[in-house]
Amino acid sequence: MAAKNQRVDHMDLAIDGLIFDLDNTLFDFDGAFAGVANKFYEQHLKATTALTRADAVAMMTRWDHDLYATTQCVPNLKERRFVRWLSEWPDTGLDIAALNRWYDDSMDQQMQPDLEVNGLLADLNDRRVPWGIVTNGPSTMQRHKCQALGLDQLAPFIVISEEVGYAKPDHRIFRDALDATRLDRPEQVMFVGDSPATDIDGARRFGMRTAWVRRGRQFPFELPPPDHTIDSVTEIRHLIDAEPTR
Ligand SMILES: [Mg+2]
Repeated sequence: MAAKNQRVDHMDLAIDGLIFDLDNTLFDFDGAFAGVANKFYEQHLKATTALTRADAVAMMTRWDHDLYATTQCVPNLKERRFVRWLSEWPDTGLDIAALNRWYDDSMDQQMQPDLEVNGLLADLNDRRVPWGIVTNGPSTMQRHKCQALGLDQLAPFIVISEEVGYAKPDHRIFRDALDATRLDRPEQVMFVGDSPATDIDGARRFGMRTAWVRRGRQFPFELPPPDHTIDSVTEIRHLIDAEPTR
């Protein structure tokens, strides 16, 4: 009961700033990956495998989730992904380099600006709400994504783990982000992300308020719950619409 009351109290407080995760928060990476996996089946597997499309896509998706689950910031994730694909399916006629090029081209086609999300972010800029992006991953890849999605033109700042030398849930990356907002206290900021451990628990431990992008999952019972649970980033609009324009 006490925890519930506390959450209601939180909602009454003004949100002075926002920090967003990138993958599966501002960018539907899982959706884009599913598009690429479907295309891989169509172009490179269908002729030589007995697997159905659904089974092949489910396998590729599960391997990727396993890779992300084993480490916070997989340094050679792409290569490990392609090694797995080619060892499972040696008859595609592709090598790692060719598959890498094919994947990048295919993923680029999936990366389109999300007008609804970008509209929300543009509104934050109009209201002069300080906000930014904090993402774990390689600099080149994450910057490329932000550019393709139109986020580089909108975001007041983008903090990338490889560039700063530490990754969520390390408190230093949340400190860097808070400094970039020019706000004083972590509790003035709400962190919006999909990862219970790296985003939500990391931000909570640093003292930020939290909004978890659920994506159809249950929040892990072993972690303290987020302040808010949302299905889409655009629901943040309800939280800030109650606030006066700064
Ligand atoms: Mg994420």
